[in-house]
Amino acid sequence: MNVRALLTNAVPELVALRQDLHAHPELGLEEVRTSEVIARELAALGYSVSRGLARTGVVATLSNGTGHRAVGIRADIDALPIHEETGLAYASRTPGLMHACGHDGHTAMLLGAARAIAERRHFDGTVHLIFQPAEENVGGARIMVEEGLFDRFPCDAVFALHNDPGLPFGTFAFRDGPIMAAVDECRITVHGVGGHGAEPQSTADPVVAGASIVMALQTIVSRNIHPLDPTVVTVGAFHAGSASNVIPERAELVVGIRSFDPAVRDELERRIWLVAERQAESYGMSARVDYERSYDATINHKAETDFLRDLAVRFAGRALVTEMPRPSMGSEDFAYMLKARPGSYFFLGARRSEADRPLHHPGYNFNDDLLPIGAAFWTELVEAYLPQS
Ligand SMILES: [Zn+2]
Ligand SMILES: [Zn+2]
Repeated sequence: MNVRALLTNAVPELVALRQDLHAHPELGLEEVRTSEVIARELAALGYSVSRGLARTGVVATLSNGTGHRAVGIRADIDALPIHEETGLAYASRTPGLMHACGHDGHTAMLLGAARAIAERRHFDGTVHLIFQPAEENVGGARIMVEEGLFDRFPCDAVFALHNDPGLPFGTFAFRDGPIMAAVDECRITVHGVGGHGAEPQSTADPVVAGASIVMALQTIVSRNIHPLDPTVVTVGAFHAGSASNVIPERAELVVGIRSFDPAVRDELERRIWLVAERQAESYGMSARVDYERSYDATINHKAETDFLRDLAVRFAGRALVTEMPRPSMGSEDFAYMLKARPGSYFFLGARRSEADRPLHHPGYNFNDDLLPIGAAFWTELVEAYLPQS
């Protein structure tokens, strides 16, 4: 039976599996039930199942024939701290937690592929299916790599996808080189002198200094960074004060910083420190800066991206294969797998209608019609990447 027919028969089960995962979301590194479901499913299919990398990670391995080539496919499995508002029958049963990024769908797709790969055994070599925790918060991919993912499960290449409700259904979007940005977070605390709102002369007002810092930060991207280097500096939160007649003691800003070039990343950090400290100083105050580097940029490898694109043209036809004109300023911890091994990451269009909600929205829901497409594509990838048995 061909891959598509095999998976079309499995659609009701894959949909049930996805919706069960959707009803039981778990945060990064706490995906205990989720990894239990994954491990049970894979063991029943005859995979050798390893658990415990990055606490709740699952790696399922299947070898066939005598070949030494190996390929890895990664699905992320974690949910988000968002309260679901879809009203679905299978909506999250845990208030405040939700699969709002479609990782339930990514997981179900790879489990669907696991079935077809095992049933057909149409490859010579080894397949490692990597179910990775904590994409959304602490970088489960980095933890898995640091804990020896590719030493224990050597892969010649590694691949991953993300559904995109902004792209037409069934469209493949590829990009060679940089595809997702590096992201950092910075907290700036301005320490002033509080007092009565009617007596500003005997206070040092951190609201004014904080507002000045917000404005000065806007000049970093526009005045200090090359116009053709993609960068974002977003002040996402500004907390200060409580009443019109009170000058508070402190103001706190939370800043998100995104970039691609490591030298630009260094320069952004240097400028933010400078702006925060010097602006505060000019108002007679001090600022404390807590700067934390988060995910590195996700950089696709050319040969593996070319391989994916050729496969997608054969799989879906040229009309459904597109190139991303520019990278996304979002971020993705698959970056760390791509720093350790050659590979490529791409987007799969999921749009149903204009009413679709974006990723990370309380009304978002993964499009189940993508399940057989993603599962079939991963199956064909294994059979194309490894020699035929
Ligand atoms: Zn997400
Ligand atoms: Zn995601």
